[in-house]
Amino acid sequence: MNIYPSYQQRLNQAKELLQTADYLLVGGGAGLSDAAGLHYDGERFREHFAPFIAQYGFSDMYTAGFYPFPTEEEKWAYWAQHIEVNRYQPPATQLYLELHHLVETKDYFVLTTNVDSQFSKAGFVPEKIFAVQGDYGLNQCARACHLQLYDNQALVEAMVSQTKDCRIPSSLVPHCPVCGGPMEVNLRKDNYFVEDQQWHDSEERYATFLKRAARHKLVLLELGVGFNTPGIIRYPFERMTYQQPDTWLIRLNSRQPEGVRENQGKTISFGEDMSQVISDFLL
Ligand SMILES: [Zn+2]
Repeated sequence: MNIYPSYQQRLNQAKELLQTADYLLVGGGAGLSDAAGLHYDGERFREHFAPFIAQYGFSDMYTAGFYPFPTEEEKWAYWAQHIEVNRYQPPATQLYLELHHLVETKDYFVLTTNVDSQFSKAGFVPEKIFAVQGDYGLNQCARACHLQLYDNQALVEAMVSQTKDCRIPSSLVPHCPVCGGPMEVNLRKDNYFVEDQQWHDSEERYATFLKRAARHKLVLLELGVGFNTPGIIRYPFERMTYQQPDTWLIRLNSRQPEGVRENQGKTISFGEDMSQVISDFLL
């Protein structure tokens, strides 16, 4: 006898939970945007980064993001292209649109490590999204000398259109308006990540949601969250499932879908194709 429930059994159980939940908390990780088609490697990477691959031997956007570019002109040429193809070019993807359709009638909240704005593009209410790790669309002082963030769309588009030989013109290099030092994209990659007022407001709204939901039927829908930064979504979701009597975890993850042993009866795992599972939730 197969001890694992079949796909259909898990699907029915998950749909039942989603339909009867009082509160729904979506946790979105890198695997979600990848499943949505925003791949950081393969054909999509080769298509958009040919000159950078030739110049630096990059294998994918994730590792390229850690490259120590020797000059600001080179750093921003790469990053402008990276931001353009992940943040400004893509419209809302089908998977995020279906996800929105799945949750829109619920009292929901989104906790995400993704920085590509797909949740808001797909119609999720901005006040119900906490993007913990930043936003490709914002710049900050590289040394966090002040806590203001700056929209970078016009700058990024100018950089992309004026990039030549993997460099932008020096005239486009941004400088901090306060200390005059270099700027960075607002991504949590070192101790200088800027958390502005809006970030703190989102954090507070998230805390309020958790407090409200804790005593009711809360369903955690965890999507593509691996072990890169498990302390933000994956572990807290497991802890809440364990500690709160009416909290349930639905985990979609192609590589590590299993729940912890302590939550065995309260975790439904899907290692199947995420787009397919979300579509099936909607049937
Ligand atoms: Zn500064």
